[in-house]
Amino acid sequence: MQSLQRMCKSTWGASFQKAKHLYTAVVRPVLTFGAKVWTTLESIQGYRKGLTIPIERVQNQALRHISGAYKSVSIPVLQQETETPPIHLYTQELTRQQALKDEGTPSTEYIQARCKVVARECRKKRTRHQPGQVQPTKQTQILHTIATQEAALPQGQRPRPGHWWLQQKWEKEWTETTSMREKAQQGQPLPAAWTQGIQKGKKLHKDWSRPQSTMATLIRTEHVGLRAYLTRQRVPGITPECTCGYRAQTLKHVMIFCPERQESRRRLIQAVGSDWKTITQTRRGLNAATKWMIQESVLDQFSLAREEEERERKEGRRSLKAW
Ligand SMILES: [Zn+2]
Repeated sequence: MQSLQRMCKSTWGASFQKAKHLYTAVVRPVLTFGAKVWTTLESIQGYRKGLTIPIERVQNQALRHISGAYKSVSIPVLQQETETPPIHLYTQELTRQQALKDEGTPSTEYIQARCKVVARECRKKRTRHQPGQVQPTKQTQILHTIATQEAALPQGQRPRPGHWWLQQKWEKEWTETTSMREKAQQGQPLPAAWTQGIQKGKKLHKDWSRPQSTMATLIRTEHVGLRAYLTRQRVPGITPECTCGYRAQTLKHVMIFCPERQESRRRLIQAVGSDWKTITQTRRGLNAATKWMIQESVLDQFSLAREEEERERKEGRRSLKAW
């Protein structure tokens, strides 16, 4: 985890793809080691969501490093942007997979037979009734229901074999979060990171440099260190007005409307047009928008990235691909 922290800072270091790979291949397996033993499926007796809280915190920290998002970005958004499911669902999925694998094996059958004997003994002590047929356990019932639902899905709808349950649960949680957020916004459009059915995760960040990926996250979450945002975060001594005099220096204002950037904006408009949705929700749009934002020095935190790019350009190398 520390090496992940050291390897990727918001504007330099390992790319989004590499950092994500490091997390899923090295850090997460350590965090969830033995999860098959210490977690049970939700709605089964003994399930405790609280068990995963400490590792969920570590994961959240890692997701911030991978995406480059500000601390104010909410966790469900981080999980969506990095395509990393919440830990409490991920550990349950591991448990479910293991339970399915164990079903019908001699050791499981032996354990189940012994459990039945113990249950019968207990019942005998409590009542004088002859024990009837032993019911299947709740876990077995749940596993079978999930397996039947999964088998009934049309071929095209299965996201990844075996991961359908996890995807379905995650989607349900995400839909609840977004509808709550929509209500809170009272009809105001949500940032791109809150919209569904668009390209994100590794596919979106493919071959992008660290600064470019971080900038894409800032644009998509609209948590960007511009004056309107800084005022909202109660940074002392900051007022929301733009240097051009407009009442709020928001991302949209800087990229589309600010008269001070009219000249340089032509490049951006030529590349992707001025449709906000195209700019913030497509790879093509974000590719152009992130480069423009870095070259325009809109944010101080990217000055190093810009200098580096300029140096490389002078030396004849191209750090960022052509527009
Ligand atoms: Zn302005």
